[in-house]
Amino acid sequence: MAEQTKDDFENPSIAELHCHLEATVEPADARRLAARHKIDISGAFDENGAYKWRSFEEFLAVYDAVSAAIRTPQDYYEITYEHYRRLAAKGVIYAEVFVSPAHALRFGMSYGALIDAVADAMGKAEAQTGIVGRIIVTCVRHFGVEHALEVAKMARDAPHAFVTGFGMAGDEAFGDAPDYKPAFDIAREAGLGLTVHAGEILGPESLRQAIFLFDVSRVGHGVRAVEDESLIAEMKDRGLTLEVCPTSNVAIGLYPSIKSHPLPALMKAGLKVTLNSDDPAYFGVDVADEYALNAAAHGLTAQDLLALTQAAVDAAFCDRETKAKLTTRLQARQVMGKTDPYP
Ligand SMILES: [Zn+2]
Repeated sequence: MAEQTKDDFENPSIAELHCHLEATVEPADARRLAARHKIDISGAFDENGAYKWRSFEEFLAVYDAVSAAIRTPQDYYEITYEHYRRLAAKGVIYAEVFVSPAHALRFGMSYGALIDAVADAMGKAEAQTGIVGRIIVTCVRHFGVEHALEVAKMARDAPHAFVTGFGMAGDEAFGDAPDYKPAFDIAREAGLGLTVHAGEILGPESLRQAIFLFDVSRVGHGVRAVEDESLIAEMKDRGLTLEVCPTSNVAIGLYPSIKSHPLPALMKAGLKVTLNSDDPAYFGVDVADEYALNAAAHGLTAQDLLALTQAAVDAAFCDRETKAKLTTRLQARQVMGKTDPYP
């Protein structure tokens, strides 16, 4: 194994699969957008100007208030471009984002205008920095079955080269899982990669149901798999990839600290594991910080971090050619060691 250097941790090569676009907006940008649309979201901030929330309910309320400040294609273009530019500067080579059309529709934006704005910003960021972006069109489970179906049909009926995945976020305890199966079937038939938030709030049974019913290749969080050995074996058999978000899990009180997070156990069990930020502007930790925090807490080597990135590239919802290019960049990184090959 190559000797670790400081540079390996400061500029690791990173890929992210699990991040909600509205949750990438920094407080200063949220205030700017609110001023643009003349809406008052001052209740969302504490005296230091950071997002103000202590409980999960407060988190959702602030998230909703801030999201209401993002309401035009231009807003979406700007927040997406900012997100990708920031990530590229921190050594991220590939990043997918969850984009929820329900939110945009609330403000009268069409699905097509939303996707075009996000994709245009990704294209600009890629041209400038080399970072590659893709979109996971996402429904929200607690908005109900009809909503899930509607979102899946939008993604199917207006295909876009950058829309490569379909996901379901929201309250994993809401409704009956079988009712949501048709939405995943529609998205699969449209050729989209599939992921679902599961195994975070609820345990192995819910995770098992979500995975086998929806036939996803990735699961958002999935960390509660660690409680059930037979489930781990089944997940390995299916080649499932976990989108693990340790800081998010700690923030909502699932684990007391990064140190006590089951990431090492999941890796040791041989599961395909990736590291992600989930809601970076709210938890104050982006995916690059997440790599550094977990490396420090669990003694991960530079090689371990590259393996996490390779797992993300392998499970990415992008075409084979893009994956091959990203893998070549990662291999160059390994060969070159200390010298960072990326702009
Ligand atoms: Zn999430």
